[in-house]
Amino acid sequence: MIDVVSVASEAHPLIKTGGLADVTGALPAALAAHDVTVRTLLPGYPAVMGALEGGRVVAEMPDFFGGFGRLLAGRGGGLDIIAIDAPHLYDRPGNPYVGPDRKDWPDNWKRFAGLSFAAYEIGRGLLENYRPDVLHCHDWQAGLTPAYVAFNAPTRAKTVMTVHNIAFQGRYEWSIFNDLRIDFRAAQENAIEYFGGIGFLKAGLQTADALTTVSPTYALEIKGPAYGMGLEGLLQVRAEHLTGILNGIDIHEWDPMTDLKLVQHYSHNSIEQRAGNRQALAQRFGLDDAPGPMFSVVSRLTWQKGLDMLVEVADDLVAAGGKLIVLGSGDAEIENGLAGAAMRHPGKVGFVRGYDEPLSHLIQGGADVMLVPSRFEPCGLTQLYGLRYGCVPLVSRVGGLADTVIDANEAAVEAGVATGIVFAPATVEALREAIRRTARLYGRDKVWRKMQRRGMKSDVSWELSAEKYAKLYRRLLGMNENADSND
Ligand code: ADP
Repeated sequence: MIDVVSVASEAHPLIKTGGLADVTGALPAALAAHDVTVRTLLPGYPAVMGALEGGRVVAEMPDFFGGFGRLLAGRGGGLDIIAIDAPHLYDRPGNPYVGPDRKDWPDNWKRFAGLSFAAYEIGRGLLENYRPDVLHCHDWQAGLTPAYVAFNAPTRAKTVMTVHNIAFQGRYEWSIFNDLRIDFRAAQENAIEYFGGIGFLKAGLQTADALTTVSPTYALEIKGPAYGMGLEGLLQVRAEHLTGILNGIDIHEWDPMTDLKLVQHYSHNSIEQRAGNRQALAQRFGLDDAPGPMFSVVSRLTWQKGLDMLVEVADDLVAAGGKLIVLGSGDAEIENGLAGAAMRHPGKVGFVRGYDEPLSHLIQGGADVMLVPSRFEPCGLTQLYGLRYGCVPLVSRVGGLADTVIDANEAAVEAGVATGIVFAPATVEALREAIRRTARLYGRDKVWRKMQRRGMKSDVSWELSAEKYAKLYRRLLGMNENADSND
């Protein structure tokens, strides 16, 4: 049995701002099948404290980054949780990273140094009768954990640093150094210094025993300047420790046969039933019932996601006979652009600004196309939900999108392997052409239906990837990689 602490600032269904939460929420159950037991360490946000069942105090940390802290262990959202109850850091409503003014909390460095430090302390045996084998650190918020392990008093736990998005790095002024409680050698050995300041993710990437990211293509991309965002040099040096392990999805929560958020259930044998969901969507987004492909987006509205480009081609999408529905929020300019498109094209374009988990399921279950025109995409989950729900993905050929969707070029259609539409480069022109191509494919009923069915049958579960993580842990611990039993 391998004991892992998953160190993260989000985990679905307790607290979520993006794909990270889906991963940390689903991976523990998938790992259980491989003799890996996971406990999830989370900041005690109100949403986490509120969901904790049977929480009991397992440690006290009287001087925890400026206030009293303690660790509570219990169950929550189907996970084994260790929550850091430190109200001075985490007892704030809303989004975990930004205040009501939409700006980062000024003490984020302290909040996530705290998360990282607590993980390190657990690794050192802070909890009675619990000595984890692996500290699995997710994204920059947990980036200091491997550095504490490397430079403070030693622990026997191995560290894994997983990058879910290298654009978010946790960069701060050097002046915080003395408050991080990290041994001075961390400064001497340039382990946490980053462009004159401190980099949380950099620290993790430099010091962790193993590095992973969430798709094989992204693992290649981030070693180069176009996608590495300043960390490519370090990743080249540590390339032999870096692997790409594709994300899966929770196929029980995301199952069109049982999903309670759908109006109509269906399977790959009854795809025509999706019509009921499509109709409900049309009502919700104010669309008319003319035929034609319904394109959809469920996303943060940002430059990364390429949705500024979608604003530019919205008119062409409608001209090609399509309709467009968008659920999301983000950059004001993109929001305004989409609202403008909805005004120009009543009955054809609908925009719901906000975050709405149930509606995101209905979109997957009713729209025809899931549009993901990202400029970069570490893995991407909405195209995986799309595959599973018969909402054909239209994606740019980057990162995990390239690894999960097979383009419907004529050869692939002939060979019966296509699962979506893939375009490159991520430009307005290429996106426009891809939308037109999708509309033409949609018109070929049989081809389209086959593509939907193939996607629905493809394996998007955690099974294969959980096995890869389990093997990685075993390798780090010097165990036989292929043995799934106690060894
Ligand atoms: P990222 O983590 O970069 O935002 P991913 O595709 O990896 O992108 O994961 C996004 C997750 O957040 C998916 O589960 C998606 O369904 C969900 N999501 C994004 N925007 C919304 C929204 N406005 N409402 C509901 N769910 C959303």
